[in-house]
Amino acid sequence: MDKSNEETNIENEAREDNNQTEHILKKLLDVKFALDKSSVVAITNQRGEILHANDLFCEISKYEREELLGQDHRILNSGHHPRAYFEQMWATIETGNIWNGEIKNRAKDGSYYWVDTTIVPFLNKRGKAYQYITIRYNITSRKKMEEALRKSEEKYRLITENLSDLIAKIDKDGNLMYVSPSYKKFLEIDLSEELESSNFFEWVYKEDIKYVIKTIENVITQKNNALQLEFRIHNKKKNFIETETKINPILDEAGNVVSLVLVIRDITERKRNEKKIYHLAYHDALTNLPNRRSLIDTLHQEVEQAKRNQTQLGVMMVDIDNFKDINDTHGHEFGDLALIEVAKRARNYLRSSDYIARLGGDEFIILMPNLLNIKDAKAVATRMNDSFKNPVEVEGSLLNFSCSIGISVFPSDGIEAKDLLRRADIALYAAKEKGRNGFLLFNPEMEERLLERNLLENESRIP
Ligand code: GH3
Ligand code: MG
Repeated sequence: MDKSNEETNIENEAREDNNQTEHILKKLLDVKFALDKSSVVAITNQRGEILHANDLFCEISKYEREELLGQDHRILNSGHHPRAYFEQMWATIETGNIWNGEIKNRAKDGSYYWVDTTIVPFLNKRGKAYQYITIRYNITSRKKMEEALRKSEEKYRLITENLSDLIAKIDKDGNLMYVSPSYKKFLEIDLSEELESSNFFEWVYKEDIKYVIKTIENVITQKNNALQLEFRIHNKKKNFIETETKINPILDEAGNVVSLVLVIRDITERKRNEKKIYHLAYHDALTNLPNRRSLIDTLHQEVEQAKRNQTQLGVMMVDIDNFKDINDTHGHEFGDLALIEVAKRARNYLRSSDYIARLGGDEFIILMPNLLNIKDAKAVATRMNDSFKNPVEVEGSLLNFSCSIGISVFPSDGIEAKDLLRRADIALYAAKEKGRNGFLLFNPEMEERLLERNLLENESRIP
């Protein structure tokens, strides 16, 4: 018997429904398959006991499925999170809300892993959660990276915060892009707000700006490697800070300089010490006048200059008369004080631009560069003799001094430093012989007379 049309329709509809159900089921299975492959999935009852654990859950937790089922998630507790973290989680899901957060878990073997966790509550008709599906993603490597980054950031911060050097990043026009926290100590300013609008060149001492800009331009155009230079910057109080600065160019992929990193070191103290050391090396400790070493350097320089410029140079050797008597009468210490005062007196009678050095003992040298006329040399010598007309006060006692002076002139009396000095010495000897308290200009007869008397020292007094 043929089926009625109605029966056929019902059968068709049923087949259709079956097809649809199968289709939906297949889709769900596909979703489940995808979820199982990508995520750690667990289903728990309302008490939190694990009812279902997928393969990835077993894999990540290193537990067998049987070991997980019936347990609650405390089996995975790493102790990392405070209690309140989970209390807040439960409060969220128990009231039917989805909770999402990051959890650090402890696997069976004691290793730790991080999961990004989403817990979806399933609600009954009364709106109460009766089970939870938990979907987790393994974020351990991201967490490790974050941790490494945090540590390196911490290390970097520690370095920059404690660095006494100042690190600044500037663009090609000198606009500040970054300064290390040490700038506060360095410049005694607070830039927190104005940093963006600040230009590095505002800090540079006016006289050094050109040189600094030129060097930076060189680094930019020649794409030079790091360059080091010394220049001054000023802090808020307008005090100078001497710096030794390394300029490092930062290049883009095309090799063009896009910015510069400056590592600025405060060398003020070092410079000060260098100056002190230089002063000590080139000055006499007793009188603070330039010493013999300074004299030798300066005399050589002045001779060279006089040769180049074809000018005359006067060399004047001054020796205090009968100074030994002071030592003999008052003692050596008193003699030292007397030498200090005598040196002061001589210095004060010269122009500040005149050069006077202590050659040693009670002997001083005065250099007269650009000597136009011998008369000028005589005038200086007269002034020197006259400077002792008035007594010198030493420790409350007034003492009378006089000095004898010998003068030689470049180029007529010699063209080398040592000859000039030797001949000034010969002239001085003659001035002493003549009765002291006067000066004499060198003439060759003086040398001959000394030679005849075998009184000439063979050793030159200057190298
Ligand atoms: P003259 O008129 O010939 O120059 O006799 P003088 O007594 O000054 O003797 P001279 O210039 O030949 O020797 C310098 C003396 O100065 C030798 C020494 O007794 C003394 N003298 C040298 N250097 C120092 C010093 O640093 N301190 C002290 N207190 N005395 C010195
Ligand atoms: Mg003397």
